[in-house]
Amino acid sequence: MRLTNPAHLVLAGGGHSHALVLLDWCMHPQRRPAGLITLVNRQSSTLYSGMIPGLIARHYKRSEVSIDLRRLCDRAGVSLVIAEINGVDVMQQQLQLLNRPALSFSQLSINVGGDTLPGSLQAIKPLEPALETLDKDQDPSSTPFQLLGSGLAAMEVALALRQRWPKRRLQLLHRPETVPSQLLSSLSQVNIEALPNTALNPSGPGLRCTGSQAPEWLSSSGLPCCQESGRVQTHSSLQVLGHPAIFAAGDCAVVNDQPRPPSGVWAVRAAATLAHNLRALSQGNPLRQWRPQRLALQLLGGVHPEGYPQAWALWGGIQIGPHPWIWRWKQRIDRQFMTRFDQAPAMGIGPMDCRGCAAKLPAAPLEAALEAAGLKSLGSSPEDAASLGKDWLQSVDGFPALISDPWLNGRLTALHASSDLWACGASVDSAMAVITLPKTAAALQQELLSQTLSGLRSAFEPQGARLIGGHTLEARAEAPTPMSLGLQVSLSVNGKRPAHPWKKGGLRAGDQLLLSRPLGTGVLFAAAMAAAAEPEDLDHALAQMGTSQHPIVEQLQELISLEAEALPSCTDVTGFGLLGHLGEMLQTSSQSLQVVLDGSAIPALPGALKLLKAKHASSLAPANRRAWSLLDPSQDQPAKVILARAGSGFDPEDLQALLELLVDPQTCGPLLLGCSEAMADALLQADYTQWHRIGVVQ
Ligand SMILES: Cc1cc2nc3c(=O)[nH]c(=O)nc-3n(C[C@H](O)[C@H](O)[C@H](O)COP(=O)(O)OP(=O)(O)OC[C@H]3O[C@@H](n4cnc5c(N)ncnc54)[C@H](O)[C@@H]3O)c2cc1C
Repeated sequence: MRLTNPAHLVLAGGGHSHALVLLDWCMHPQRRPAGLITLVNRQSSTLYSGMIPGLIARHYKRSEVSIDLRRLCDRAGVSLVIAEINGVDVMQQQLQLLNRPALSFSQLSINVGGDTLPGSLQAIKPLEPALETLDKDQDPSSTPFQLLGSGLAAMEVALALRQRWPKRRLQLLHRPETVPSQLLSSLSQVNIEALPNTALNPSGPGLRCTGSQAPEWLSSSGLPCCQESGRVQTHSSLQVLGHPAIFAAGDCAVVNDQPRPPSGVWAVRAAATLAHNLRALSQGNPLRQWRPQRLALQLLGGVHPEGYPQAWALWGGIQIGPHPWIWRWKQRIDRQFMTRFDQAPAMGIGPMDCRGCAAKLPAAPLEAALEAAGLKSLGSSPEDAASLGKDWLQSVDGFPALISDPWLNGRLTALHASSDLWACGASVDSAMAVITLPKTAAALQQELLSQTLSGLRSAFEPQGARLIGGHTLEARAEAPTPMSLGLQVSLSVNGKRPAHPWKKGGLRAGDQLLLSRPLGTGVLFAAAMAAAAEPEDLDHALAQMGTSQHPIVEQLQELISLEAEALPSCTDVTGFGLLGHLGEMLQTSSQSLQVVLDGSAIPALPGALKLLKAKHASSLAPANRRAWSLLDPSQDQPAKVILARAGSGFDPEDLQALLELLVDPQTCGPLLLGCSEAMADALLQADYTQWHRIGVVQ
């Protein structure tokens, strides 16, 4: 089924134009086109080009020059897909992605920037790997660092590097006739050698700033592109020639009858027309024509021989400076640009209750309802999965979409549901899915469903498991924005019962407690909804959550067969947090046991403890705090769990954050293992390093 308006607008690339379009929708929600909108970018943040030289010179921190696309998308009601785009199928209206299914679109807008022309040395674009190279380059030797290029970008990077490395030998390798002599003399004043590009040492350190070209996949997709630069040709409405439903802007595109050089300034200026026309086309209204100025003011950063920053102002052939006040002016303009993104208001449509596994019912009403229904035995069922006869185990799990990317959400739900079987030492064999789709156009439901199903398969198939059936439903409630958050996936997973399933109970005195990965997904996603989580922390958490734990279960099975010793106890840490699930293990083990947790060994995902200290918490955390009672001694009994810390004990703030971490609900959380000391030692050896030893049973 082909998508028609207003179904799915896909924004390919999170460049300057798209970031500003998203900002426009945050500021003016009524201007956002109806339907599902998805942004695809290779990272969850994008760098503001005007401040890159300042970042290289260390005037700015990375966070000051990064636009957080995830936060912007959340606020604009747009789905975010982190993926590498590698083509457009214009006939099928699909954007092709690396290692995942293509996205169908009814309208496409492309703003993927350009890459540095091929050649020697590390390319300056894409920027992220170039910045990484600089960060790693600590070479104090006399090997000169080379900047290859004859344009303003090469000069500006050379001057920025002089501020970063006041003493290092720097060389600008350029085509002699192209750089104005006045600018060259500014380089020599700060000890940057200007040499002809024939003097290049291709194996030496350096950066290539030789101009850009659009990604090759644009022309190989059959879109009309300039022969030399590869830039997609558009009308002044920013519609691609011959493809009225496809727009393009920024460095990857050029307006056919009003060409402008690839530069962030033009990508920024095209944004207002792009935002207007995306909506106008979806509504069948007349489009606006973009009439760019002939010239743009350029402010070029530099450095005074005494080491303080200065800048030039360039307008066509006119040049003013260098002067420190021009630098201060440039800084003010750039900072104001970035502040607008920090101040973007949320559309106010998104739900604020935590999603993922944090959307499960608290333990108390669950137990009470089971008892009232005469199913108390189910509530006290000690194991993570139920036995179906002697050969099979079954479990069921699911939640309202945690993230707006339906493919990744499907994958995470499948991995989360699998962990109940893994905790029994079983391998997943098959699964059935119940998928609730938002109430929307049938073609869009089809797209959301196929993305979700592909995500489920991506998690099951590497385990040798199959999706064998299921059922779909259409929600009766109004679809949220973005509507991909209206997806709910529930899975029943079936696994072959191992000869000796691992039990949740069965902890023994002397057992070591091991955790397979860090905690903190609950608070990170709660903070993300309050726009308080750092983008790289969320990326880190999602990367961990999207990694299957079935290989470690297989390794563990191998180890058990080698050791021929008593089985471990195991559970998966999910909605009730580490302490809640540890409590279940204790409840089903011998009454007289006590666990000593090593507070300094409990691993947290990056950013989690900081957010807990700032009082962020999942909406399920308050109910989970009842598990803190395990830490309290009663009149005649010592505490079931002791939180210890070697050395100086706990700082009160650290202790409080740790207590919160212990009840943080986890989606795709770790396995918690109780095993003999010998097995723990074997697991902590090099091959199994992901395990953390967090405590001991006594
Ligand atoms: C050192 C340096 C300094 C500069 N200084 C200035 C300046 O001061 N002023 C100015 O106007 N211009 C400047 N420029 C030029 C400027 O960087 C670019 O013109 C500008 O970034 C282009 O913006 P854009 O919106 O087209 O794309 P970009 O800003 O390049 O953004 C494209 C986005 O798309 C993503 N993307 C790309 N390919 C894919 C893919 N295949 N799959 C998924 N995502 C993808 C990228 O990760 C990126 O987030 C400078 C350039 C350099 C190298």
